Amino acid sequence: MLPGHAQTGSQYGANDKEVLISALHAVSEEDIDRWMNVLISPEMRGRLAGDIGYDMAARWSADKLAGWGLKPFFEEGFFQEFDQPYTLVKDKGQLEIHLPAGGQVITKTYAYGDDYWPWGISGSGEVTAEVVYAGHGISAPELGYDDYAGIDVEGKIVITELGIPYRGQNQDSLLMWAPYVDHANKVKYAIENGAVGLIFAYHVASPRPTADPDFIFLAAADHVVEDFLAGTGHQLSEVREHIRSTMTPRSFSTGKEATLALSTEYHPDGKTSNVVAMIEGSDPELRNEFIIVGAHLDHLGMMPVLFPGALDNASGSSLALGIAKAISTSGAELRRSLIILLFGAEEVGLVGARHFVEHFPYPQQQIKAMINLDMVGRGNAFFASTAQPWSSLLEVIENNNERWVHRPFATRSGPWNYQIRPRTDGAVFHNAQIPAVTFGTRGATTPTLYHVPEDTMEQIDIEIMRDVIKVLTMSIIEIGNKESIQLDTP
Ligand SMILES: [Zn+2]
Repeated sequence: MLPGHAQTGSQYGANDKEVLISALHAVSEEDIDRWMNVLISPEMRGRLAGDIGYDMAARWSADKLAGWGLKPFFEEGFFQEFDQPYTLVKDKGQLEIHLPAGGQVITKTYAYGDDYWPWGISGSGEVTAEVVYAGHGISAPELGYDDYAGIDVEGKIVITELGIPYRGQNQDSLLMWAPYVDHANKVKYAIENGAVGLIFAYHVASPRPTADPDFIFLAAADHVVEDFLAGTGHQLSEVREHIRSTMTPRSFSTGKEATLALSTEYHPDGKTSNVVAMIEGSDPELRNEFIIVGAHLDHLGMMPVLFPGALDNASGSSLALGIAKAISTSGAELRRSLIILLFGAEEVGLVGARHFVEHFPYPQQQIKAMINLDMVGRGNAFFASTAQPWSSLLEVIENNNERWVHRPFATRSGPWNYQIRPRTDGAVFHNAQIPAVTFGTRGATTPTLYHVPEDTMEQIDIEIMRDVIKVLTMSIIEIGNKESIQLDTP
């Protein structure tokens, strides 16, 4: 070993201490704060995939990456374009309950935000109809489960729950249930059974594009659902527990009517893009192996109030930009190639991640590591997880945390398919058997605000974001220069 190369020489390839120190300090808290504030600004309109606000965020990010010397990964340039229908929510909508009271009807009007959120998946219009509680809103005859069996929802509004009744970890069962997680399928089953509207018992907003132009969909808080269940002899928590513990439906009429209204504007011809930039590896052989840092850039848009999406996912996007800046501007050498990948259309169903994986121009085995960053910017501690065959990647990050950052760090790994996380971009890579690592932060002392307009800088801890950039930058320099990466096949 040459003098001056110190012990770090071999671990980080040809990079000397000065380069490493400059990579470590390349990104300031001011940088992160500035980028976050650009991405959440009203001009970016909440970064809805398909909308001009997202395009502006994508262009801004590509300009930043180009400015630091990164090159487009694809010949066509930084933007990997794909079709993405989208829906603009044009008003706050309406949700009312009509309660029979001694020959009269009392109407209670709920409030946008506090009581319900509109979803892009909705069509436009207004309906007033009887409300039926329909469990998870799933018809799965091959699984012997049908929330619509034995009830009549023709011309009625249904209340359905999030996700599936199955709560176990059995892999085969999870795979069989997986298609029923999809929100669009809940709309499909409701329509097939004749329903005219859906109250989703899951109180967050979502931008998925319109499923049916005449079908109204609002997401309501539990206390609203409880109002509908009042007097039926059913308690919401007890009904949920019954369905999940016995895996049998419990559907019933609430005996009350509701009014649902919303105005949406569906754009079936929308287009959006991933932003894909690269630092090419220096080694003529190893440059054909890729490390990917991924984060989704899109969010919910204007519904019609601005959803800034600071944590979800201006945070991950800013971290990916920070890693790009640190590695590129420090001049750190990587023998392998690094791809900085900002996904479009995550919020509408991981579309950008699927598009990238399906159109990756080389054999997928050439991707040696994918680190996904989604909602990473709160608390005081790190966590990372991956599948057992790829756990050597976690060790690298742990060692770099011990060396450079010293945050509490929890890691977790299991058999390659131990945990289906169907709603993250990392899962798309994981399911394609590409070594995907989920990296996150934890230890925040206030509840995380998710898919609400209050997802602002107030819930962000810039300090831990700075440390995420440090630990991942140094880890990537190490992974990018290793002689070989110890990965097992799943
Ligand atoms: Zn989200």
